[in-house]
Amino acid sequence: MSLYEYKLQTAPQNFYNVTSKVKEAVAKSNIKNGICVVFSPHTTAGITINENADPDVVRDMLLGLSRAYPDSKDFMHAEGNSTAHLKASAMGSSATVIINDGKLLLGIWQGIYFCEFDGPRTRRFLVKVIGE
Ligand code: ZN
Repeated sequence: MSLYEYKLQTAPQNFYNVTSKVKEAVAKSNIKNGICVVFSPHTTAGITINENADPDVVRDMLLGLSRAYPDSKDFMHAEGNSTAHLKASAMGSSATVIINDGKLLLGIWQGIYFCEFDGPRTRRFLVKVIGE
């Protein structure tokens, strides 16, 4: 069973680069060739792959998502966090990355992000490594 779980403490809204944790899980698994799935078991947080170099990209993505999914008085969900649900679905709940010779085949500018839209909370994400 090459399944790993990580926890993180989040801010109200932010992206967390979890690439090093995913690399750690792949190394622990001893699987050299296959795939890994990074999964968020939450409805107001997501997983995405995007630029790892310029922090303004994360800032702009958060701004763009807030403009794309503004709060609305027409939302009926009693918890009052429908924008967070929308943003989480826009990002998706998982990312899959190819493992080749023990390394993640990410592009040089790519990082794997856990995306919080309704923090602060204690969150977790799972990494499943499949292969040989
Ligand atoms: Zn809700």
